[in-house]
Amino acid sequence: MIAEETSEQIEQQNSKIPVGISSCLLGEKVRYDGGHKNNSYIGKTLGQYFDLQAFCPELDIGLGIPRKPIRLSRKGSDVIRCIPVDNPEPDFTDALAKSANEKRQWHSNLCGYILKKDSPSCGMERVKIWDDVMPIREDVGIYAGKMMENFPYLPVEEEGRLGDAVLRENFIQRVFIMRR
Ligand code: SF4
Repeated sequence: MIAEETSEQIEQQNSKIPVGISSCLLGEKVRYDGGHKNNSYIGKTLGQYFDLQAFCPELDIGLGIPRKPIRLSRKGSDVIRCIPVDNPEPDFTDALAKSANEKRQWHSNLCGYILKKDSPSCGMERVKIWDDVMPIREDVGIYAGKMMENFPYLPVEEEGRLGDAVLRENFIQRVFIMRR
C-alpha cells in the first residue's frame, strides 16, 4: 500500500498540472469573427508545466463560427443578460451558466483556469455591461462567474494579468499549492 502511494505521488510530481483555458488563447479559431487570441507565453512557457485543457463555452452552447458578437446588457432591467450586440434576443445567459454547471466534473479535476479577459462569457472581472448610457466595467463573464461560484478556491487568472510579474507568480504558486 505504501509502495503504491509512493509511485502515485512520483507519477503526480512528474506529470503536468491540469489547467483549464479559454480555447482562443491557445490559438484555436473559435472567436465570433473566426479569429483567435493566441498567447505564446501561456502556450509555450506555462505549457511546459501545465496540461492546458481548452474549452470554449460559446461553441459549447451551439454558437457557430463566425457568429454575431454578444455582450452583457441590463438595458431596461436590473438583471444582467448576455445577448447579441444588436438585438435583445436570443438570450444566452442561462445556456452559458448551464454550460459551466455541466462542466463541474471537469472543473473539479483542474488545479487552475486561465480566462480570456473582457469576454461576456469568459471574462474574470471588469467585463463591460451595456445600458442606455455608457458601458461600465464591473461584471464577470457568465460562464466564468458560474464556474467561480461553483469552485471559489480554484486559482483563476486572466491572460492580460499574467503579463504582470507579481500576479503571474501569485497565480503559479496558487496552482502548485492546489496541485499539492
Ligand atoms: S467564449 Fe471564451 S474561449 Fe470562446 S472565443 Fe470567447 S473568450 Fe474565447
